[in-house]
Amino acid sequence: MKQLIFSICALFSFITAAQDTYLHCGKLIDTNTGKIKNEMTVVVSGDKITAVKKGYQEPASQNDKVIDLKSKTVLPGLIDMHVHIEGELNPRRYIEPFVLNDADRAFNSVGFAKKTLLAGFTTVRDLGGSGVNVSLRNAINAGKIDGPRIITCEKALGTTGGHADPTNGWRKELVGNPGPKEGVVNSIDDAKKAVRQRYKNGADMIKITATGGVLSVAKSGQNPQFTLEEIKAIAQTAKDYGMHVAAHAHGDEGMQRAVLGGVKTIEHGTLMSEKTMDLMKEYGAYYVPTITAGKSVEEKAKIKGFFPAIIVPKALAIGPKIQETFGKAYKKGVAIAFGTDAGVFDHGDNGKEFGYMVEAGMPAMETIQSATVTNAKVLEMTDQLGSIEVGKLADIIAVDEDPTKNINTMEKVSFVMKNGKVYKK
Ligand SMILES: [Zn+2]
Repeated sequence: MKQLIFSICALFSFITAAQDTYLHCGKLIDTNTGKIKNEMTVVVSGDKITAVKKGYQEPASQNDKVIDLKSKTVLPGLIDMHVHIEGELNPRRYIEPFVLNDADRAFNSVGFAKKTLLAGFTTVRDLGGSGVNVSLRNAINAGKIDGPRIITCEKALGTTGGHADPTNGWRKELVGNPGPKEGVVNSIDDAKKAVRQRYKNGADMIKITATGGVLSVAKSGQNPQFTLEEIKAIAQTAKDYGMHVAAHAHGDEGMQRAVLGGVKTIEHGTLMSEKTMDLMKEYGAYYVPTITAGKSVEEKAKIKGFFPAIIVPKALAIGPKIQETFGKAYKKGVAIAFGTDAGVFDHGDNGKEFGYMVEAGMPAMETIQSATVTNAKVLEMTDQLGSIEVGKLADIIAVDEDPTKNINTMEKVSFVMKNGKVYKK
């Protein structure tokens, strides 16, 4: 009996102490319609949005809290489809595998995760690291450290000598024979095993490197590196395990195989032909441009000694092309999923991508929709993310100016709430 009275009292005090947060929003972006509403109130209870009302509503109880965003433009938390949260490009990149322990990567990634969140990116898709990304995701979900919600591929899949072979450029006696366990695939059986291994390691989705890449120590940045059959085996196995597949691709042939093989997103897409654009529309694949990364590698390639010599011509050839390809693909009606490849440039600068997209011809509001509703759709999380609506998670950010008038305001996010908790004010 005593215990019952105690728990009733505890329940009562919990109810009276329950606190809602009222956000008074000068402008509120409806990402579903692309319209901006003036003078709105968003009510947050716990980690969810419980009301979206016209005007500046007064709190229902004195326990409730009001946050004044009357001079701001408020929008849903941003989603970046392509980051590498464990690392950041630096001239020591190529010796890091020999000198960094996982614990070093883990400590580094804590800062990268926080910078990303404070830049307004409340959800990211991590497209490859050493596996620390899985632990980082878990630590953030458990509330141990601050960071975005992470959907991770753990380690990207490549072929022997391909872009995601972790031993490219190493001394012969160090190379060993990496296989599916390490994410290296050379047959249909390997493909299935590598996907199942990622699932076992805690991945949420699968990344493949369908063509050569800029930053690997290898000659070609664009050759096709998987057979169509291998890609099909990867996509089918991933589907069995409830995972989607992202494909890094610069060259057109590898890109076409990836689309035909059933991948959901094409990353970079640098040399995408019109035929591939049509194929992407036909197969419902999304294009993740990563313009910022292209510009970053081009800039770094001009600094003497920053990259090994074999990287420089690839960076100079591929880097500057992405923005132009993006402009063409957008005009052709390819679905665009916002993604930056942060990690190839400094974490927290993800918002620069918006300006580059606008520069290439995509209207500002559409870039914001791409980073919110579209990406929520790619992640199959539209019930929780992508718009400020009743029942969705309270991932809400604000910027000082109207981004349809000045898109660069997206680089200076001034308010960040994730899961109903305020991280920046
Ligand atoms: Zn990447």
